[in-house]
Amino acid sequence: MKGLHVFGSHTYHGGGRVGRMLVVCFTAAAARLKNDGSEAGWRAGRRAMSGMQNTLIGCALLALGSLVFYAEQHSIKRELSLGRRRRRLRSKDNEPPFIESPAEVLSRRKERQQNASELFRFALVTDTHVWPAAAGRNDFTSRSDASPIRDGLLVRHSPQIYSAMLQELGRFAAGGGAFAVHAGDAVCGGNNFHSPANEYERALRMLAEEERAILGRWPIHHVAGNHDLHPKLGGLSAWQRELGNQTGAPRPDVAYRSLRHRGWRILLLDTASAVHFDTDGHGLVDAAQLGWLQAELDASAAGGERVLLVGHQLLVQPREPSGAVVSWLEVPVDMVENANQVLNLLSRYPHVRLSLHGHVHANSLTTYGGIAFVTTSSASEYPMQWREVIVRECEIEMRTRTLPVASETLAMSRQREAGRGDPDERNRAKVGGVLENHLLLSVCTPTEREQRENAPRPRRRLARRRER
Ligand SMILES: [Zn+2]
Repeated sequence: MKGLHVFGSHTYHGGGRVGRMLVVCFTAAAARLKNDGSEAGWRAGRRAMSGMQNTLIGCALLALGSLVFYAEQHSIKRELSLGRRRRRLRSKDNEPPFIESPAEVLSRRKERQQNASELFRFALVTDTHVWPAAAGRNDFTSRSDASPIRDGLLVRHSPQIYSAMLQELGRFAAGGGAFAVHAGDAVCGGNNFHSPANEYERALRMLAEEERAILGRWPIHHVAGNHDLHPKLGGLSAWQRELGNQTGAPRPDVAYRSLRHRGWRILLLDTASAVHFDTDGHGLVDAAQLGWLQAELDASAAGGERVLLVGHQLLVQPREPSGAVVSWLEVPVDMVENANQVLNLLSRYPHVRLSLHGHVHANSLTTYGGIAFVTTSSASEYPMQWREVIVRECEIEMRTRTLPVASETLAMSRQREAGRGDPDERNRAKVGGVLENHLLLSVCTPTEREQRENAPRPRRRLARRRER
Protein backbone atom coordinates (compact mmCIF):
# COMPACT_ATOMS: atom_id res chain seq x y z
CA MET A 1 0.00 0.00 0.00
CA LYS A 2 3.04 2.32 -0.18
CA GLY A 3 2.07 3.35 -3.69
CA LEU A 4 -1.43 4.52 -2.68
CA HIS A 5 0.03 6.63 0.05
CA VAL A 6 2.25 8.39 -2.52
CA PHE A 7 -0.76 9.16 -4.78
CA GLY A 8 -2.86 10.37 -1.85
CA SER A 9 -0.38 13.12 -1.08
CA HIS A 10 -0.75 14.62 -4.59
CA THR A 11 -3.56 16.63 -6.02
CA TYR A 12 -4.75 15.31 -9.33
CA HIS A 13 -4.26 17.82 -12.11
CA GLY A 14 -4.30 16.04 -15.46
CA GLY A 15 -2.95 13.48 -17.94
CA GLY A 16 0.79 14.05 -17.23
CA ARG A 17 0.23 12.73 -13.74
CA VAL A 18 -1.01 9.33 -14.94
CA GLY A 19 2.42 8.43 -16.39
CA ARG A 20 4.20 9.58 -13.27
CA MET A 21 1.79 7.56 -11.14
CA LEU A 22 2.56 4.36 -13.11
CA VAL A 23 6.33 4.89 -12.71
CA VAL A 24 5.89 5.20 -8.93
CA CYS A 25 3.70 2.04 -8.92
CA PHE A 26 6.29 -0.05 -10.74
CA THR A 27 9.05 1.25 -8.50
CA ALA A 28 7.03 0.26 -5.43
CA ALA A 29 6.29 -3.22 -6.84
CA ALA A 30 9.96 -3.79 -7.78
CA ALA A 31 11.06 -2.75 -4.27
CA ARG A 32 8.67 -5.31 -2.77
CA LEU A 33 10.06 -8.06 -5.11
CA LYS A 34 13.63 -7.18 -4.17
CA ASN A 35 12.95 -7.21 -0.41
CA ASP A 36 10.94 -10.45 -0.47
CA GLY A 37 13.25 -12.12 -3.04
CA SER A 38 16.12 -12.13 -0.54
CA GLU A 39 14.44 -15.04 1.41
CA ALA A 40 15.13 -18.61 0.31
CA GLY A 41 12.52 -21.15 -0.80
CA TRP A 42 9.65 -21.09 -3.29
CA ARG A 43 7.02 -20.06 -0.64
CA ALA A 44 8.82 -16.91 0.00
CA GLY A 45 9.18 -16.39 -3.77
CA ARG A 46 5.47 -16.89 -4.32
CA ARG A 47 4.58 -14.49 -1.51
CA ALA A 48 6.85 -11.95 -3.14
CA MET A 49 5.32 -12.59 -6.58
CA SER A 50 1.81 -12.35 -5.17
CA GLY A 51 2.64 -9.05 -3.33
CA MET A 52 4.08 -7.61 -6.54
CA GLN A 53 0.99 -8.74 -8.51
CA ASN A 54 -1.36 -7.13 -5.97
CA THR A 55 0.57 -3.87 -6.09
CA LEU A 56 0.60 -3.89 -9.90
CA ILE A 57 -3.16 -4.67 -10.12
CA GLY A 58 -3.92 -1.88 -7.62
CA CYS A 59 -1.76 0.51 -9.63
CA ALA A 60 -3.40 -0.51 -12.91
CA LEU A 61 -6.87 0.02 -11.47
CA LEU A 62 -5.85 3.43 -10.16
CA ALA A 63 -4.29 4.38 -13.48
CA LEU A 64 -7.46 3.32 -15.32
CA GLY A 65 -9.62 5.32 -12.90
CA SER A 66 -7.39 8.34 -13.36
CA LEU A 67 -7.54 8.05 -17.14
CA VAL A 68 -11.35 7.88 -17.09
CA PHE A 69 -11.47 10.88 -14.72
CA TYR A 70 -9.08 12.86 -16.96
CA ALA A 71 -11.08 12.02 -20.09
CA GLU A 72 -14.29 13.12 -18.40
CA GLN A 73 -12.78 16.37 -17.17
CA HIS A 74 -11.39 17.11 -20.61
CA SER A 75 -14.69 16.46 -22.34
CA ILE A 76 -16.61 18.59 -19.79
CA LYS A 77 -14.20 21.46 -20.40
CA ARG A 78 -14.55 21.03 -24.14
CA GLU A 79 -18.33 20.94 -23.82
CA LEU A 80 -18.28 24.13 -21.77
CA SER A 81 -16.03 25.92 -24.22
CA LEU A 82 -18.13 24.77 -27.16
CA GLY A 83 -21.26 25.94 -25.35
CA ARG A 84 -19.72 29.35 -24.78
CA ARG A 85 -18.72 29.57 -28.41
CA ARG A 86 -22.21 28.52 -29.50
CA ARG A 87 -23.75 31.16 -27.23
CA ARG A 88 -21.41 33.76 -28.72
CA LEU A 89 -22.42 32.68 -32.18
CA ARG A 90 -26.08 32.80 -31.27
CA SER A 91 -25.81 36.31 -29.82
CA LYS A 92 -24.22 37.52 -33.03
CA ASP A 93 -26.80 35.92 -35.29
CA ASN A 94 -28.37 39.26 -36.16
CA GLU A 95 -25.11 41.15 -36.48
CA PRO A 96 -22.99 41.65 -39.59
CA PRO A 97 -20.49 38.91 -40.53
CA PHE A 98 -17.33 38.44 -38.49
CA ILE A 99 -15.01 39.16 -41.35
CA GLU A 100 -14.22 42.83 -41.47
CA SER A 101 -13.10 44.66 -44.56
CA PRO A 102 -9.87 46.70 -44.39
CA ALA A 103 -12.08 49.82 -44.51
CA GLU A 104 -13.97 48.66 -41.43
CA VAL A 105 -10.75 47.90 -39.56
CA LEU A 106 -9.42 51.34 -40.51
CA SER A 107 -12.63 53.04 -39.47
CA ARG A 108 -12.51 51.24 -36.09
CA ARG A 109 -8.91 52.30 -35.67
CA LYS A 110 -9.86 55.85 -36.58
CA GLU A 111 -12.70 55.72 -34.07
CA ARG A 112 -10.27 54.61 -31.36
CA GLN A 113 -7.92 57.46 -32.26
CA GLN A 114 -10.84 59.88 -32.24
CA ASN A 115 -11.95 58.66 -28.83
CA ALA A 116 -8.43 59.15 -27.55
CA SER A 117 -8.39 62.74 -28.78
CA GLU A 118 -11.89 63.61 -27.52
CA LEU A 119 -11.89 66.58 -25.18
CA PHE A 120 -15.60 66.67 -24.34
CA ARG A 121 -19.05 66.30 -25.84
CA PHE A 122 -22.16 68.34 -25.29
CA ALA A 123 -25.77 68.46 -26.47
CA LEU A 124 -27.36 71.31 -28.38
CA VAL A 125 -31.14 71.62 -28.18
CA THR A 126 -33.27 74.51 -29.33
CA ASP A 127 -36.72 76.01 -29.89
CA THR A 128 -38.62 73.74 -27.52
CA HIS A 129 -41.54 76.26 -27.30
CA VAL A 130 -43.04 74.70 -24.19
CA TRP A 131 -46.52 75.84 -23.19
CA PRO A 132 -48.35 73.78 -20.54
CA ALA A 133 -52.11 73.26 -20.94
CA ALA A 134 -54.11 76.40 -20.12
CA ALA A 135 -56.91 78.59 -21.53
CA GLY A 136 -54.50 80.86 -23.45
CA ARG A 137 -52.82 77.88 -25.06
CA ASN A 138 -56.17 76.44 -26.14
CA ASP A 139 -57.08 79.78 -27.78
CA PHE A 140 -53.77 79.87 -29.64
CA THR A 141 -53.81 76.27 -30.84
CA SER A 142 -57.46 76.48 -31.99
CA ARG A 143 -56.68 79.62 -34.00
CA SER A 144 -53.48 78.16 -35.35
CA ASP A 145 -55.04 74.79 -36.30
CA ALA A 146 -57.76 76.59 -38.25
CA SER A 147 -55.33 78.88 -40.07
CA PRO A 148 -54.45 77.96 -43.67
CA ILE A 149 -50.92 79.28 -43.03
CA ARG A 150 -49.21 77.39 -40.22
CA ASP A 151 -45.95 75.68 -39.35
CA GLY A 152 -45.39 72.20 -37.94
CA LEU A 153 -44.87 73.29 -34.35
CA LEU A 154 -46.77 71.01 -31.93
CA VAL A 155 -47.40 73.47 -29.10
CA ARG A 156 -50.12 71.21 -27.66
CA HIS A 157 -47.59 68.36 -27.33
CA SER A 158 -44.67 70.55 -26.22
CA PRO A 159 -44.65 69.55 -22.50
CA GLN A 160 -44.51 65.82 -23.39
CA ILE A 161 -41.82 66.44 -26.01
CA TYR A 162 -39.80 68.43 -23.48
CA SER A 163 -40.02 65.55 -20.99
CA ALA A 164 -38.82 63.12 -23.67
CA MET A 165 -35.96 65.51 -24.46
CA LEU A 166 -34.90 65.73 -20.81
CA GLN A 167 -34.97 61.93 -20.53
CA GLU A 168 -32.77 61.79 -23.61
CA LEU A 169 -30.38 64.34 -22.09
CA GLY A 170 -30.30 62.27 -18.91
CA ARG A 171 -29.09 59.29 -20.95
CA PHE A 172 -26.59 61.53 -22.74
CA ALA A 173 -25.29 62.76 -19.37
CA ALA A 174 -25.00 59.19 -18.07
CA GLY A 175 -23.00 58.31 -21.20
CA GLY A 176 -20.41 61.02 -20.47
CA GLY A 177 -22.00 64.15 -21.99
CA ALA A 178 -20.52 67.20 -20.26
CA PHE A 179 -23.49 69.59 -20.50
CA ALA A 180 -26.30 70.83 -22.76
CA VAL A 181 -26.87 74.22 -24.34
CA HIS A 182 -30.42 75.34 -25.16
CA ALA A 183 -30.17 77.83 -28.04
CA GLY A 184 -33.34 79.76 -27.14
CA ASP A 185 -37.13 79.92 -27.40
CA ALA A 186 -37.55 77.57 -24.47
CA VAL A 187 -41.15 78.80 -24.05
CA CYS A 188 -43.87 80.65 -25.98
CA GLY A 189 -43.40 84.22 -24.79
CA GLY A 190 -42.63 87.15 -27.06
CA ASN A 191 -44.96 88.42 -29.70
CA ASN A 192 -46.98 86.12 -31.93
CA PHE A 193 -48.17 83.42 -29.50
CA HIS A 194 -50.15 86.05 -27.48
CA SER A 195 -49.47 84.10 -24.31
CA PRO A 196 -51.01 85.49 -21.09
CA ALA A 197 -48.30 86.58 -18.60
CA ASN A 198 -49.23 83.96 -16.00
CA GLU A 199 -49.05 81.10 -18.53
CA TYR A 200 -45.64 82.26 -19.76
CA GLU A 201 -44.32 82.52 -16.18
CA ARG A 202 -45.78 79.13 -15.28
CA ALA A 203 -44.08 77.54 -18.31
CA LEU A 204 -40.70 78.89 -17.19
CA ARG A 205 -41.23 77.57 -13.65
CA MET A 206 -42.35 74.18 -14.93
CA LEU A 207 -39.31 73.88 -17.19
CA ALA A 208 -36.86 74.75 -14.43
CA GLU A 209 -38.50 72.29 -12.02
CA GLU A 210 -38.55 69.47 -14.55
CA GLU A 211 -34.93 70.06 -15.54
CA ARG A 212 -33.89 69.84 -11.89
CA ALA A 213 -36.06 66.77 -11.30
CA ILE A 214 -34.65 64.85 -14.26
CA LEU A 215 -31.10 66.18 -14.67
CA GLY A 216 -30.33 67.21 -11.07
CA ARG A 217 -27.23 69.38 -11.08
CA TRP A 218 -26.12 68.32 -14.58
CA PRO A 219 -25.86 71.66 -16.41
CA ILE A 220 -28.21 72.82 -19.14
CA HIS A 221 -27.14 76.33 -20.20
CA HIS A 222 -29.96 78.44 -21.61
CA VAL A 223 -29.41 81.05 -24.30
CA ALA A 224 -32.16 83.67 -24.74
CA GLY A 225 -34.49 83.64 -27.76
CA ASN A 226 -37.15 86.14 -28.83
CA HIS A 227 -39.91 83.90 -27.40
CA ASP A 228 -38.18 83.91 -24.03
CA LEU A 229 -38.98 87.65 -23.67
CA HIS A 230 -41.91 88.50 -21.40
CA PRO A 231 -45.03 88.77 -23.61
CA LYS A 232 -46.52 91.68 -21.65
CA LEU A 233 -43.65 93.37 -19.79
CA GLY A 234 -40.84 92.67 -22.23
CA GLY A 235 -37.33 91.82 -21.05
CA LEU A 236 -35.80 88.64 -19.75
CA SER A 237 -35.99 89.05 -15.97
CA ALA A 238 -38.56 86.25 -15.46
CA TRP A 239 -36.61 83.97 -17.84
CA GLN A 240 -33.37 84.76 -16.03
CA ARG A 241 -34.91 84.08 -12.64
CA GLU A 242 -35.96 80.57 -13.68
CA LEU A 243 -33.55 79.45 -16.40
CA GLY A 244 -30.73 81.98 -16.37
CA ASN A 245 -27.34 81.39 -14.87
CA GLN A 246 -24.96 84.14 -13.95
CA THR A 247 -21.78 82.06 -14.11
CA GLY A 248 -19.45 83.77 -16.57
CA ALA A 249 -21.76 86.79 -17.03
CA PRO A 250 -20.13 90.24 -16.88
CA ARG A 251 -23.17 91.68 -15.01
CA PRO A 252 -26.16 90.06 -13.28
CA ASP A 253 -28.66 91.91 -15.52
CA VAL A 254 -27.40 90.56 -18.87
CA ALA A 255 -28.17 87.23 -20.53
CA TYR A 256 -24.82 86.76 -22.35
CA ARG A 257 -21.97 84.96 -20.67
CA SER A 258 -19.01 82.71 -21.30
CA LEU A 259 -18.19 79.14 -20.33
CA ARG A 260 -14.67 77.77 -20.30
CA HIS A 261 -14.20 74.08 -20.83
CA ARG A 262 -11.03 72.11 -21.63
CA GLY A 263 -9.26 74.69 -23.79
CA TRP A 264 -12.44 76.06 -25.32
CA ARG A 265 -14.35 79.23 -24.59
CA ILE A 266 -18.05 78.90 -25.31
CA LEU A 267 -19.64 82.31 -25.71
CA LEU A 268 -23.38 82.26 -25.08
CA LEU A 269 -24.69 85.36 -26.85
CA ASP A 270 -27.90 87.28 -26.34
CA THR A 271 -28.50 88.05 -30.00
CA ALA A 272 -31.40 90.35 -29.08
CA SER A 273 -29.88 92.23 -26.14
CA ALA A 274 -31.06 95.52 -27.68
CA VAL A 275 -34.64 94.24 -28.09
CA HIS A 276 -36.88 94.68 -25.03
CA PHE A 277 -40.24 93.77 -26.60
CA ASP A 278 -40.36 91.09 -29.28
CA THR A 279 -42.14 92.47 -32.35
CA ASP A 280 -41.20 90.26 -35.30
CA GLY A 281 -38.46 87.97 -33.98
CA HIS A 282 -35.39 89.84 -35.25
CA GLY A 283 -32.22 90.21 -33.19
CA LEU A 284 -30.03 93.21 -32.38
CA VAL A 285 -26.81 93.16 -30.36
CA ASP A 286 -26.17 96.21 -28.17
CA ALA A 287 -22.87 98.07 -27.85
CA ALA A 288 -22.17 96.75 -24.35
CA GLN A 289 -22.35 93.16 -25.58
CA LEU A 290 -20.09 93.96 -28.55
CA GLY A 291 -17.55 95.38 -26.08
CA TRP A 292 -17.81 92.27 -23.90
CA LEU A 293 -17.47 90.02 -26.96
CA GLN A 294 -14.28 91.79 -28.02
CA ALA A 295 -12.83 91.45 -24.50
CA GLU A 296 -13.69 87.72 -24.46
CA LEU A 297 -12.13 87.20 -27.87
CA ASP A 298 -8.96 89.03 -26.80
CA ALA A 299 -8.70 87.07 -23.55
CA SER A 300 -9.28 83.70 -25.23
CA ALA A 301 -6.72 84.49 -27.95
CA ALA A 302 -4.17 85.48 -25.31
CA GLY A 303 -4.90 82.30 -23.35
CA GLY A 304 -4.61 79.98 -26.37
CA GLU A 305 -8.28 78.98 -26.16
CA ARG A 306 -10.48 78.30 -29.14
CA VAL A 307 -13.93 79.82 -29.41
CA LEU A 308 -17.39 78.50 -30.17
CA LEU A 309 -20.46 80.78 -30.20
CA VAL A 310 -24.09 79.99 -29.46
CA GLY A 311 -26.81 82.51 -30.27
CA HIS A 312 -30.49 82.39 -31.17
CA GLN A 313 -31.02 84.56 -34.27
CA LEU A 314 -28.75 84.16 -37.29
CA LEU A 315 -25.55 86.03 -38.09
CA VAL A 316 -25.26 84.79 -41.69
CA GLN A 317 -27.91 83.86 -44.23
CA PRO A 318 -27.94 80.08 -44.84
CA ARG A 319 -27.08 79.18 -48.41
CA GLU A 320 -27.60 76.31 -50.77
CA PRO A 321 -24.49 74.49 -52.07
CA SER A 322 -24.95 76.63 -55.24
CA GLY A 323 -24.35 79.75 -53.16
CA ALA A 324 -27.95 81.03 -53.36
CA VAL A 325 -29.67 82.05 -50.11
CA VAL A 326 -32.13 79.34 -49.01
CA SER A 327 -35.71 80.00 -50.09
CA TRP A 328 -37.16 79.46 -46.63
CA LEU A 329 -35.23 82.27 -44.91
CA GLU A 330 -37.31 85.21 -43.74
CA VAL A 331 -35.22 88.35 -43.85
CA PRO A 332 -35.00 90.44 -41.72
CA VAL A 333 -36.96 88.60 -39.00
CA ASP A 334 -34.62 85.58 -38.86
CA MET A 335 -31.48 87.69 -38.64
CA VAL A 336 -29.50 89.76 -36.18
CA GLU A 337 -30.06 93.28 -37.52
CA ASN A 338 -26.45 94.36 -36.94
CA ALA A 339 -24.95 90.98 -37.89
CA ASN A 340 -22.30 92.79 -39.97
CA GLN A 341 -20.93 94.52 -36.88
CA VAL A 342 -20.62 91.16 -35.11
CA LEU A 343 -19.10 89.47 -38.18
CA ASN A 344 -16.57 92.29 -38.64
CA LEU A 345 -15.46 91.78 -35.08
CA LEU A 346 -15.27 87.97 -35.45
CA SER A 347 -13.25 88.28 -38.68
CA ARG A 348 -10.32 89.65 -36.66
CA TYR A 349 -10.08 86.48 -34.57
CA PRO A 350 -9.06 83.30 -36.43
CA HIS A 351 -9.53 81.19 -33.29
CA VAL A 352 -13.33 81.44 -33.65
CA ARG A 353 -14.40 78.17 -35.29
CA LEU A 354 -18.09 77.55 -34.94
CA SER A 355 -21.33 79.42 -34.35
CA LEU A 356 -24.48 77.50 -33.38
CA HIS A 357 -27.99 78.95 -33.78
CA GLY A 358 -31.68 78.14 -33.46
CA HIS A 359 -34.72 80.28 -34.40
CA VAL A 360 -35.31 79.01 -37.97
CA HIS A 361 -36.40 75.45 -37.00
CA ALA A 362 -34.19 73.84 -39.66
CA ASN A 363 -30.83 72.10 -39.96
CA SER A 364 -28.44 74.18 -42.03
CA LEU A 365 -24.72 74.76 -42.49
CA THR A 366 -23.04 77.80 -43.99
CA THR A 367 -19.38 78.74 -43.80
CA TYR A 368 -18.39 82.37 -43.79
CA GLY A 369 -15.02 83.93 -42.99
CA GLY A 370 -13.60 80.59 -41.84
CA ILE A 371 -16.42 80.01 -39.33
CA ALA A 372 -19.07 77.29 -39.66
CA PHE A 373 -22.55 78.69 -38.95
CA VAL A 374 -24.95 75.89 -38.06
CA THR A 375 -28.68 76.03 -37.33
CA THR A 376 -30.59 73.19 -35.70
CA SER A 377 -34.21 72.08 -36.04
CA SER A 378 -36.79 72.78 -33.32
CA ALA A 379 -37.30 70.04 -30.73
CA SER A 380 -41.08 70.50 -31.04
CA GLU A 381 -41.31 70.50 -34.83
CA TYR A 382 -40.48 67.92 -37.50
CA PRO A 383 -37.82 66.39 -37.62
CA MET A 384 -37.62 66.95 -33.81
CA GLN A 385 -33.87 66.68 -33.44
CA TRP A 386 -31.02 67.77 -31.24
CA ARG A 387 -27.30 67.72 -31.92
CA GLU A 388 -24.52 65.82 -30.27
CA VAL A 389 -21.37 67.94 -30.50
CA ILE A 390 -18.10 66.06 -29.97
CA VAL A 391 -15.08 68.30 -29.48
CA ARG A 392 -11.69 66.72 -30.23
CA GLU A 393 -8.14 68.09 -30.35
CA CYS A 394 -8.37 69.04 -34.03
CA GLU A 395 -11.95 68.29 -35.01
CA ILE A 396 -15.56 68.93 -34.06
CA GLU A 397 -18.08 66.29 -35.00
CA MET A 398 -21.78 67.12 -34.99
CA ARG A 399 -24.52 64.55 -35.38
CA THR A 400 -28.25 65.17 -35.35
CA ARG A 401 -30.23 62.87 -33.07
CA THR A 402 -33.98 62.43 -33.32
CA LEU A 403 -35.88 62.73 -30.05
CA PRO A 404 -37.52 59.51 -28.82
CA VAL A 405 -41.08 60.55 -29.76
CA ALA A 406 -43.81 58.39 -31.31
CA SER A 407 -43.76 58.18 -35.11
CA GLU A 408 -47.37 59.49 -35.06
CA THR A 409 -46.14 62.67 -33.35
CA LEU A 410 -43.53 63.21 -36.05
CA ALA A 411 -46.10 62.54 -38.77
CA MET A 412 -48.54 64.96 -37.15
CA SER A 413 -45.95 67.73 -37.25
CA ARG A 414 -45.06 66.96 -40.86
CA GLN A 415 -48.70 67.14 -41.88
CA ARG A 416 -49.34 70.33 -39.93
CA GLU A 417 -47.02 72.35 -42.18
CA ALA A 418 -49.28 74.24 -44.63
CA GLY A 419 -49.73 77.36 -46.67
CA ARG A 420 -46.15 78.55 -46.99
CA GLY A 421 -45.18 76.94 -50.27
CA ASP A 422 -44.84 73.22 -50.92
CA PRO A 423 -45.14 71.51 -47.48
CA ASP A 424 -42.92 68.58 -48.59
CA GLU A 425 -40.22 70.96 -49.70
CA ARG A 426 -40.40 72.82 -46.39
CA ASN A 427 -40.23 69.56 -44.43
CA ARG A 428 -37.20 68.47 -46.47
CA ALA A 429 -35.57 71.83 -45.83
CA LYS A 430 -36.08 71.41 -42.06
CA VAL A 431 -34.23 68.06 -42.17
CA GLY A 432 -31.34 69.36 -44.30
CA GLY A 433 -28.84 67.28 -46.25
CA VAL A 434 -26.11 64.84 -45.29
CA LEU A 435 -23.63 67.52 -44.24
CA GLU A 436 -26.19 69.33 -42.13
CA ASN A 437 -26.82 66.10 -40.22
CA HIS A 438 -23.31 64.75 -39.79
CA LEU A 439 -20.58 67.30 -39.94
CA LEU A 440 -16.86 66.89 -39.32
CA LEU A 441 -15.25 70.25 -38.90
CA SER A 442 -11.49 70.66 -38.78
CA VAL A 443 -10.62 73.16 -36.07
CA CYS A 444 -6.82 73.21 -36.35
CA THR A 445 -4.76 75.27 -38.73
CA PRO A 446 -2.10 73.10 -40.50
CA THR A 447 0.51 74.47 -38.08
CA GLU A 448 -1.65 73.70 -35.04
CA ARG A 449 -2.34 70.19 -36.29
CA GLU A 450 1.38 69.58 -36.77
CA GLN A 451 2.13 70.90 -33.30
CA ARG A 452 -0.57 68.78 -31.67
CA GLU A 453 0.31 65.64 -33.60
CA ASN A 454 4.06 66.01 -33.04
CA ALA A 455 3.78 66.97 -29.39
CA PRO A 456 5.71 64.45 -27.23
CA ARG A 457 3.18 61.95 -25.92
CA PRO A 458 4.02 61.92 -22.21
CA ARG A 459 3.77 65.70 -22.05
CA ARG A 460 0.47 65.64 -23.89
CA ARG A 461 -0.91 63.11 -21.42
CA LEU A 462 0.28 65.22 -18.50
CA ALA A 463 -1.28 68.30 -20.02
CA ARG A 464 -4.59 66.49 -20.41
CA ARG A 465 -4.48 65.22 -16.86
CA ARG A 466 -3.80 68.73 -15.60
CA GLU A 467 -6.74 70.03 -17.57
CA ARG A 468 -9.03 67.55 -15.88
ZN1 LIG B 1 -36.92 82.36 -32.22
